[in-house]
Amino acid sequence: MIIAIDGPAASGKGTLARRLAAHLGLPHLDTGLLYRATARALIDHGHDLSDRTAAISAARSLALTDFDEALLRGREMAEAASVVAAIAEVRAALIDMQRSFASRPGGAVLDGRDIGTVICPEAACKIFVTASDDARATRRALELRARGEKVDYGAVLEEIRKRDQRDSNRAAAPLKPAKDAVVLDTTKLDVDAAFKAALAMVEAAFARARAQTAV
Ligand code: C5P
Repeated sequence: MIIAIDGPAASGKGTLARRLAAHLGLPHLDTGLLYRATARALIDHGHDLSDRTAAISAARSLALTDFDEALLRGREMAEAASVVAAIAEVRAALIDMQRSFASRPGGAVLDGRDIGTVICPEAACKIFVTASDDARATRRALELRARGEKVDYGAVLEEIRKRDQRDSNRAAAPLKPAKDAVVLDTTKLDVDAAFKAALAMVEAAFARARAQTAV
């Protein structure tokens, strides 16, 4: 059973995906890491982020074991990932890896921007996680402060909006809910309440899928 979780930056989709995966005993793939690792490889080799040939080659040589999260998690890498993620051939180079992860026996949880629309359109459960710009910027600022970074709320809000705009307006696999996704607005929910709501959505989707196979 595949669970596809999509949504904009700092919507809480990563936390939800990890928690759902742990609860259900399923493997989890944070697909943002693929784009972050591609951008990181470009930077490490002294290439410009607009160097399409280098970006495509970096994406093609990526392996799922390549992720050093400590090097990939920062704000700069988020912005850089969003630049390379707009290159259609970079996305194409990363499709097989994601689909093969998703097709593991027993299923998987994947989170990103295009899981329900492009990577796993057949997923039994699709959740589009969202929250107001203010809630997302507040959470991100708190998270960064907890990591010891000095942050300005206004700058974080601006970064999030800029990234969402780029992700939503690109031609290749733009950020948008799949037609059959359920929307989970976490603006007024804490982590536990959001998890409870997401789990109810997953259980409803599983029940639907079981009823369909029983027919
Ligand atoms: O989810 P995360 O913030 O790590 O994603 C970083 C960037 O990678 C996003 O802003 C987006 O541009 C890109 N991304 C994507 N498709 C995905 C996952 C991430 O385009 N499935």
